[in-house]
Amino acid sequence: MIPVSEIFYSIQGEGKTAGVPALFLRLAGCDVKCIWCDTKEIWMRGKPLNRELIIKSIRERSNKDIHLVITGGEPLIYNDFINELVYEVVDSFRMIEIETSATRKPYGLISYENKVFFNTSPKLKNSLVNEELRVNPDAIEFFLNSKRAIFKFVIKNEKDVIEMIETYKEPFNIPNELIYLMPLSTSREEFIERSLIVVELCKKYKFNFSPRLQLIIWDRTTGV
Ligand code: SF4
Repeated sequence: MIPVSEIFYSIQGEGKTAGVPALFLRLAGCDVKCIWCDTKEIWMRGKPLNRELIIKSIRERSNKDIHLVITGGEPLIYNDFINELVYEVVDSFRMIEIETSATRKPYGLISYENKVFFNTSPKLKNSLVNEELRVNPDAIEFFLNSKRAIFKFVIKNEKDVIEMIETYKEPFNIPNELIYLMPLSTSREEFIERSLIVVELCKKYKFNFSPRLQLIIWDRTTGV
């Protein structure tokens, strides 16, 4: 049995593929526990579902013109199940995206399947998660070498950008084109306000800006 928080059809709101129509599978549970987590309310309530039932439900809603986004919580807790799911549905979607905190190194099918893309979101001190848990060098190197990943950072101010450069960009030699700065925000109002700061930081340091379309369009409403 795998705990599922929700399955819904929407558009990808963040990162390189923002705006693409996508079916979302949100798996429950996360062991990272960021202080500002904006999906905690949802991933904490998961309904245990039979693996075959989940795969059947995803297959029934599949379409070759949309992406499948596997998110959480931290979906890589269920790496074995995701390998099974990807095996069954990889040809039924345009692309499969896995959203992860980059604290776990993927293994099995998803580690080499070209149609699987990783939206990683490594954490900074502003998450209040201890460094040993949030920075996993093996995992970061895997994602970088896979050439199928971007690195998206939740940013509050310039101090965060400098910390990101010192903790991730420079030690792992992550190219700017793979780095996205996303405003720390849990509401539409906060997103718009902080975007003005983060956009300027993107221009100054030459990183990409990531929107949070779900906040702009639906504010705090989830599962839409
Ligand atoms: S890793 Fe993601 S899901 Fe887990 S607590 Fe942090 S923001 Fe929330």
